[in-house]
Amino acid sequence: MVGFAHTVHVVRKSVWLFLLVVLLPAVVLGWLALRSADEQRFILERRTAELFQTEADAIAGTIREAMIVERQSFAAAVRRLLADKPDATALARDFSNTLPEVWKRKSIGFALGPGGKLLAPNPAKVGSNANWGKFLQENGAFLCNTQPAVVYTVGNELAGKTGTVNRADALVSSLNAPSMKKAAPSRDSAKTKADAAPAAPFAPGAAPAEKPSAEQKAFNSDIVDKVVTAQQSRAVQPAEQEGNWSAPVPATAEFAELTKDEDEGMIARFVKDRLDLIFWLRPPEAPTLIFGCLIEAASLHDEWPALLTDFQSASTIAPDRIIALLDDKARPVATLPEGATGIDWKRPLVASEIGEAFPHWEAAIYLARPTALADSARGVYRTFAFLVAGAVALIAIGGWLVAADVRRQLALAQQKTDFVSNVSHELKTPLTSIRMFAELMHDRPQTPEKQSQFLRIISVESERLTRLINNVLDFAKLERKQRVFEKKPFDFHATVSSVWENSELHLKEAGFTAEWIGEPSPYPIVGDADSLAQVLVNLISNAEKYSTDRKEVELRTWLGDGWVHASVLDRGTGVRSGDELKIFEAFYRAHDSLSSGIQGSGLGLTLAQQIAAAHGGRIDFKAREGGGSQFTLRLPLRVE
Ligand code: ADP
Repeated sequence: MVGFAHTVHVVRKSVWLFLLVVLLPAVVLGWLALRSADEQRFILERRTAELFQTEADAIAGTIREAMIVERQSFAAAVRRLLADKPDATALARDFSNTLPEVWKRKSIGFALGPGGKLLAPNPAKVGSNANWGKFLQENGAFLCNTQPAVVYTVGNELAGKTGTVNRADALVSSLNAPSMKKAAPSRDSAKTKADAAPAAPFAPGAAPAEKPSAEQKAFNSDIVDKVVTAQQSRAVQPAEQEGNWSAPVPATAEFAELTKDEDEGMIARFVKDRLDLIFWLRPPEAPTLIFGCLIEAASLHDEWPALLTDFQSASTIAPDRIIALLDDKARPVATLPEGATGIDWKRPLVASEIGEAFPHWEAAIYLARPTALADSARGVYRTFAFLVAGAVALIAIGGWLVAADVRRQLALAQQKTDFVSNVSHELKTPLTSIRMFAELMHDRPQTPEKQSQFLRIISVESERLTRLINNVLDFAKLERKQRVFEKKPFDFHATVSSVWENSELHLKEAGFTAEWIGEPSPYPIVGDADSLAQVLVNLISNAEKYSTDRKEVELRTWLGDGWVHASVLDRGTGVRSGDELKIFEAFYRAHDSLSSGIQGSGLGLTLAQQIAAAHGGRIDFKAREGGGSQFTLRLPLRVE
């Protein structure tokens, strides 16, 4: 028993060791793996967004470059005209008519003379051209410097400047630029539309913290000619970008003020919610004149699809996204693929502002399936989680199976220990009786009746001893598959008869009522008669052993459906429910010797079942109605 307790202790230690060394680390590693999968997903999303951001910036840059090229082509057209017609003033007066001849872009040419005097289109000849009338109505006062307008200025520095200008940088650079007299935008004031009234005057407090120079003081006093209006919020809110302020900041100024420091440039302006672009040029050949043209942004719409398509073919990113050029109200001006619909245009994955050339316009990129990225990441995560959970579950199940096996082995070890003590008891009891009665006869002469009674007891006890030893030996043989059954055809009725003859006598002597109700012979079967007799003896011996007050044993034999049945019934203790199958296991004893006082080895039924099985039959237990047990042996009848 000490050895057994030690084993339990060792097993417990192994279980703890398993939990600490295998299961716990497995769970921790699984958790770490899941966390890393989560981080990977995050990184993947960021990478994709960064990649797309680069693409959006490139598209915005391409559009800006296209506008530079456009403006340069206008300047080249003007220079060509000047080269052909040396009289610059005459050219200026007729510029609105001449420009379409040399420059194919749909536009209205205009020319200004010294002091901002409008030379073309000629207000006197406006009647012949409705477009000119509209042009003069909307731009005349601004161009002639009689009324300032809210505009976005784009100079030569345009090239190479990205659209996603940091808002703070935009403000500082605009404040520091000496030629651009801008006031700090009032962020709190309403995000004014460009056409709104001129905004608050210059606020000195918002300027850089340096001491103002003399030049700056002069500039501060000059608040009328150019005033920066409030910064506007972006038209879109990209999922992957923070900050919602638009980089282009409008200024309120007169045309002369905007053009005085440069020789050529571009001005963007919203008129009645429509974006107009003004190219202008002060040619060195005629420095007092300004040649310009006005292009409605809407007239460029045909250009964008080709631009985007070019971009797409040059791009290396898989076409799983939608590119859109959005106007200041986040309406798609062009999309790739063309005609994309069903998209929340205000919520791109990433976007890049085009800049002052197209104020508040954005190059935006959307995922074709917005949830695709999250879905695939979630799929990877789910597979990962499943694998980790599966691995942990397998480890746990494996551990549990090992533990269950260990438990079974322990139970078996316990049963074997019990078996040894049970067999020792079983051997001791008949031996003691045999010795006692032999000594009695030896020590003093006995009457012939006593002598024969003593001899019968000695014989019964030695039979019991033989049975026990046979059981143990047979079991060992069966376990090692060494037992050979000498099978031959015989009448099982004869075997039952001879077993019952012996048992009946013995049972009656022990105070039992014993009865055999059986169908008449023959019970033709094929088998080992001695082994099958051993089965019946074991069943009848158990019926006797496990009977208490009601000492009744009944044997029933009958034929049916190709089987012969032999049932042994008693009115004994019965078998606890749940033990019905276990009683057939080796060494299992539902009636523990110590508590019940009934001797046994736990092998009788195991052996009987094995013998029955070797003959193609089986033994079944059934609780008997009214108390007690019924063990039934069935064997296949011989087929003639
Ligand atoms: P043993 O009788 O030597 O213990 P067996 O293999 O013959 O071993 O029986 C196994 C167990 O089945 C017994 O310990 C007992 O608990 C139960 N058992 C067998 N026969 C009967 C019976 N007729 N009535 C009640 N219990 C029985």
